[in-house]
Amino acid sequence: MQRIVLAKRPEGQPGPDNFRLETVAVPSPGDGEVLLRVLYMSLDPYMRGRMDDAKSYSTPVAIDEQMGGGAVGEVIESRSPHFKSGDIAMGMFGWGTHGIVKARELRKIDPDVAPDSTSLGVLGMPGFTGWYGFNVIGQPKAGETLVVGAATGPVGSMVGQLAKQKGLRAIGVAGGADKCAYAVEELGFDACIDHRAASDAKGLRKSLSEACPDGIDIYFENVAGMTLEAVLPMMNVGGRIPLCGMIAWYNAGALGAGETAGPDRLPKAWRTILVNRLTVGGFIISDHFDRFGDFLAEVGPLVGSGKIVYREDVSEGLENAPAAFIRMLGGKNFGKTLVKVA
Ligand code: NDP
Repeated sequence: MQRIVLAKRPEGQPGPDNFRLETVAVPSPGDGEVLLRVLYMSLDPYMRGRMDDAKSYSTPVAIDEQMGGGAVGEVIESRSPHFKSGDIAMGMFGWGTHGIVKARELRKIDPDVAPDSTSLGVLGMPGFTGWYGFNVIGQPKAGETLVVGAATGPVGSMVGQLAKQKGLRAIGVAGGADKCAYAVEELGFDACIDHRAASDAKGLRKSLSEACPDGIDIYFENVAGMTLEAVLPMMNVGGRIPLCGMIAWYNAGALGAGETAGPDRLPKAWRTILVNRLTVGGFIISDHFDRFGDFLAEVGPLVGSGKIVYREDVSEGLENAPAAFIRMLGGKNFGKTLVKVA
């Protein structure tokens, strides 16, 4: 089998030399384990954090260790009564052509309900993240205004579409005219602001003010950086911020377009949270999988009926995973980033 390991830790933006493709023997499953041939592999922003040797909610990938992550595959050998050859299942197999997982850590997928790949995106962890953060932390009410960055990605597009279903005004922030057009025309956002066209946070705030005449009640935080700086002073009293991600800062030290190092803005930000009585709720979705069934029960039918749409950005071949990952971190993906492995 082939797999991709972490060759060295990145400084700032990762490059191809941070990864290494290896060929190793296909492992044999032990008791209660299942061997799968990977069909699609997921590439997610959180994997950037795992490449650093820094304390976080999960342990970093070690040098020479296989990159971890979710994938969907076909069972080719099972030593569990719960799976048989030919079953399709989703689990944490990592970046490889094959994976061995304990049967109890696998989720069986019914390929007749939705395409296999959706178990990694709209009906998988990212879609669930959007659903959970929006409903549980966002506490949405009809008539309110919501803003979300990375609006066309699997998390942001779920948040925007759910907001519209619940009668909110939904404003997206995305990179580029094509993404913004898709957000409005296909996802149903009321407006979408191109952050890459904004000169700085003030310019972005001006565009957002025009799109949000009544201020912002929910800021679903996917990106931080300049978008956060633009949004924070626009939050209404009692506003909520589901703090999901901050991709603009993942390549530590690198400032995004339009950002300046400037003075320490923490006191001002903290004061805004106090004065406007904001609720900021950080969450890590792996803590909340007890709600996954509720998510699937609500969103599965909406995807099936086309009321929630999704877009995938699929690269072919395991060897192209590093390039696809680097593209995603730079915002060059358009939709859920996947690699078709087999
Ligand atoms: P996406 O597929 O949307 O990919 C990331 C996107 O981030 C890029 O396409 C780009 O979109 C945007 N981006 C990159 N750099 C910047 C920047 N400097 N400023 C603004 N936007 C930028 O990602 P996901 O939907 O998978 O994830 C969205 C966020 O949710 C991430 O921060 C991720 O870490 C987080 N997350 C958190 C989870 C949790 O448990 N808390 C679980 C899953 C995801 P564009 O071109 O439109 O700017």
